[in-house]
Amino acid sequence: MIYETAPAKINLTLDTLYKRDDGYHEVEMIMTTIDINDRLTFETREDGEIVIDVEHNFVPSDHRNLAYKAAKLMQDKYNIKQGVTISLEKSIPISAGLAGGSSDAAATFRGLNELWGINDSLEALSELASEIGSDISFCIYGKTALCRGRGEQLTHLPKPPSAWVVVAKPDIGVSTPEIYGALDLNETIEVPTKACLEALETGDYEMLCQSLGNSLESVTMHLYPEVEKLKNTMQNSGVDAALMSGSGPTVYGFVQKERQAKQVYNALMGCCNDVFIARLLG
Ligand code: ATP
Repeated sequence: MIYETAPAKINLTLDTLYKRDDGYHEVEMIMTTIDINDRLTFETREDGEIVIDVEHNFVPSDHRNLAYKAAKLMQDKYNIKQGVTISLEKSIPISAGLAGGSSDAAATFRGLNELWGINDSLEALSELASEIGSDISFCIYGKTALCRGRGEQLTHLPKPPSAWVVVAKPDIGVSTPEIYGALDLNETIEVPTKACLEALETGDYEMLCQSLGNSLESVTMHLYPEVEKLKNTMQNSGVDAALMSGSGPTVYGFVQKERQAKQVYNALMGCCNDVFIARLLG
């Protein structure tokens, strides 16, 4: 039996550059990893089947699960006759902008690489992963990276300075295609990608706090005003910086002391059910 953890990601930046001929948006985003984790176990089956064992109302246990898609792709690509039972324990909120499904898929690539004795490199797994989702390549490594293309072209970066992250998700789910569909590229804000890269290079916490940006934030906030309300509440509760992650609706805030993190957590508990205190892992 193999165990893997699947950590959530947050966007320090997300810039949408232009719409490509293939319908995807060309993006430039800096992502890092936080310690909110799904847990997966992998057990070989001799009947060749892929079985997902998950108890969650909003997570499919069939071929629609990203962990299933990852396992199927591994079987086909490496010509594996064995199957697998994947037990999935979710902690990462669903449809949140935290790449929960992508991280589960990435953990599946890593887990099966070991369970089935494939032993391919992380680079090869990361490339293969881009066939089933844009954020999975990043999640293969976790860590911190500048992600370009659809998100699958990675440049690894230094880990961010240490900080507490308070993460809160309003009680709504947001679909990524819906947000990209509503995006008007003539109305996007300037995203401080360069400043954020410099903050990571120099390990400067204050500068990092000033160089967060997400061009999807106003789009999601326009459709779901509760996201803006949550961000305002977070800012008023004393975080050093706050931003929506991915296409939302999750908002996170940075503080340096655990005591402050608890204060922010308490202020947000009345607003939504999903509130977490986490650390930057990067
Ligand atoms: P991203 O930040 O990459 O857009 P997300 O955090 O917004 O991801 P997820 O929680 O990864 O969204 O999943 C969104 C949808 O994918 C859900 O509607 C869910 O039904 C489906 N899904 C497929 N596999 C999984 C999985 N392993 N965990 C969670 N959701 C999954």
